[in-house]
Amino acid sequence: MGGDGDGWVGCTCGGRHWGLNGAAGLLLVQEGSILLQHRAPWSHNGDTWGLPGGARDSHETSIEAALREANEEAGIQAELVDVLLVEREDHGNWAYDTVIARTQIGLTAYVANHESLEIRWVALSEVVDYDLHPAFAKAWRKLQTTIDNSLAF
Ligand SMILES: [Zn+2]
Repeated sequence: MGGDGDGWVGCTCGGRHWGLNGAAGLLLVQEGSILLQHRAPWSHNGDTWGLPGGARDSHETSIEAALREANEEAGIQAELVDVLLVEREDHGNWAYDTVIARTQIGLTAYVANHESLEIRWVALSEVVDYDLHPAFAKAWRKLQTTIDNSLAF
């Protein structure tokens, strides 16, 4: 699509990340499962499982970016999503925001563009069994704790 956030950043952590203004992903929870995206093989760290998401455009909040990307990639309708909180992983000159959200009844997700091989609901306890995107794999334990805490209503 080509927003103004598209591009690589040489990060102070020594890595290279996608998103000139940072990036955001949607961690969508529905009855004990989360939505995972099987990333296309040609993408960075391709053929792994992660969250729908991508580069944030300069005019967007991280929530807007995550919801837009989730719509483009997985057909997620923003009006059926309740955002709970945003967890930021700050690298200094780059940051990744995980937008933790819950779905209302009636939400369906599907492969909506070429960036995904598959979109799948995965039980919280089975996420670790997947070949996860390295950054998501690293963040998952903390995110799972956050989900457990924020859904303990
Ligand atoms: Zn970094």
